[in-house]
Amino acid sequence: MLRLTEIKLPLNHDEHAINAAILTKLNIKPEQLLSVNVFKRGFDARKKSDIQLIYTLDIEVDNEAALLKTFAKDQHVKPSPDTSYKFVAKAPEQLAERPIVIGLGPCGLFAGLVLAQMGFKPIILERGKEVRERTKDTFGFWRGKELNPESNVQYGEGGAGTFSDGKLYSQVKDPKHYGRKVMSEFVAAGAPDEIMYVSKPHIGTFKLVAMVEKMRATIIELGGEIRFSSRVDDLHIEDGQITGLTLATGERLNSRHVVLAVGHSARDTFQMLYDKGVYVEAKPFSIGFRIEHEQSMIDECRFGPNAGNPILGAADYKLVHHCANDRTVYSFCMCPGGTVVAAASEQGRVVTNGMSQYSRHERNANSAIVVGIDPQRDYPGHPLAGIELQRNLEALAFKVGGENYHAPAQLIGDFLTGKTSAELGDVKPSYTPGITLTDLTQVLPDFAIAAIREAIPAFDRQIKGFAKADGLLTGVETRTSSPICIKRGADYQSINIKGLYPAGEGAGYAGGILSAGIDGIKVAEAVALAMPGVQSLV
Ligand code: FAD
Repeated sequence: MLRLTEIKLPLNHDEHAINAAILTKLNIKPEQLLSVNVFKRGFDARKKSDIQLIYTLDIEVDNEAALLKTFAKDQHVKPSPDTSYKFVAKAPEQLAERPIVIGLGPCGLFAGLVLAQMGFKPIILERGKEVRERTKDTFGFWRGKELNPESNVQYGEGGAGTFSDGKLYSQVKDPKHYGRKVMSEFVAAGAPDEIMYVSKPHIGTFKLVAMVEKMRATIIELGGEIRFSSRVDDLHIEDGQITGLTLATGERLNSRHVVLAVGHSARDTFQMLYDKGVYVEAKPFSIGFRIEHEQSMIDECRFGPNAGNPILGAADYKLVHHCANDRTVYSFCMCPGGTVVAAASEQGRVVTNGMSQYSRHERNANSAIVVGIDPQRDYPGHPLAGIELQRNLEALAFKVGGENYHAPAQLIGDFLTGKTSAELGDVKPSYTPGITLTDLTQVLPDFAIAAIREAIPAFDRQIKGFAKADGLLTGVETRTSSPICIKRGADYQSINIKGLYPAGEGAGYAGGILSAGIDGIKVAEAVALAMPGVQSLV
């Protein structure tokens, strides 16, 4: 198989254009080209009137060796790498013990799945409910019902990314192609095939719900066990080795191999870990607001006359600005054609995030606009001080929002000129339960307000209309990543508790669905190779 890269074709090319481009590039006859598979498709939209699609293609030809020789100096003609996933171990017939995975977000899901596929019959413990029940609780809260602190946008089957845009890209280095394993398992569970090849794949909320259910069924078929409403409240540690844990129900489970994939919002669990002496340290994260504009404005600005082309879909953006006060503001978790959601998991607190459906057809584009903060400058002195800061900001947003889970919001124009907002403009807020127009300078520290005030006009120079007066800011955004790192060594185990495998976003080793899934696979491999009686395949 040969891999051709950087094959550029016009946006609206016809169905024969790919084959024609291959024949021209390699100077071969049609009968020599045996098969073509699109490995990746991206696009270059720098010239809006002439957007180019850029393909990476895997092809079969009948004279591969000769062609490789002819194109030996061409960086864009190479043998296709083997990206298939290979299991590192096989469980013994008689398991001496079963590994436990805490948390069924993308990290726990992939750790559990890969352990199950290797025959280790993991026990997966999830504090929240199964995904259909959880959906009722989460959407109920968004429609004005009570917040259930154990079943919400952060907690429950599928983890934090379940009600999301389902963006599936990441900047982590992935030399072993674990990302392909994540994608192919998602496709097997019902994700659209295109996630295997488009450069910025996304799934959207409702598809994710069905996929998570299917993956659960696979784990159970392979002998795994999944328990919902099973919050882990205590760990048992003897001579620096984990031996088991206790659930909120009081039940005790024993295992010397425990994956800790609890996500970035399990503040009570973080406290328990700290109290038990597990080594944790504070890490940087970010704070800010969600910004909303009309999606049509973003499409127009990014794609010009090609706005609305179905191959391009709804446009996204990624922005960064370094401010005069030595802070950096950036856009994060941009959701094209989506909605701003209430992402609280604790009573009396307001937090925002974003989601969308696969179609990305909602009227507004939204994104977090956040300022980086770090322990040395902003929350020194205690490993858990970042959590305290998050809680304080979320409680302030709750208060300013009206103490009913409405989020405080302000028009961009008013925010920039220092005026309390009184009336909405053309951009209608998508956040439910609802918003309270106010003065947002009350809810973040002064340095963050100054930085965001400087960044928005700077972003307007890249996306015309970004600082438009009737765009909307809603707050607060505090959970961009974990405020702590649960340190692990090269063996993926906690640096001071053997057998405990901190993993995923909560432990500081992932920052999104894909990277959390990848980390889950890596940790599953480490657990498998450390289990008694295991047959290593590497
Ligand atoms: P989580 O997904 O947080 O899962 C942790 C699980 O552990 C939870 O289900 C929780 O209930 C459980 N748990 C916690 N404590 C305990 C305990 N003591 N006992 C038992 N169980 C416990 N990322 C993207 O890449 N693309 C996106 O489009 C995207 N959009 C997002 C939209 C929203 C609204 C949110 C909230 C997040 C979004 N993210 C997105 C981020 C992404 O969801 C996370 O990075 C990812 O889910 C992290 O995976 P994880 O498995 O490490 O943790």
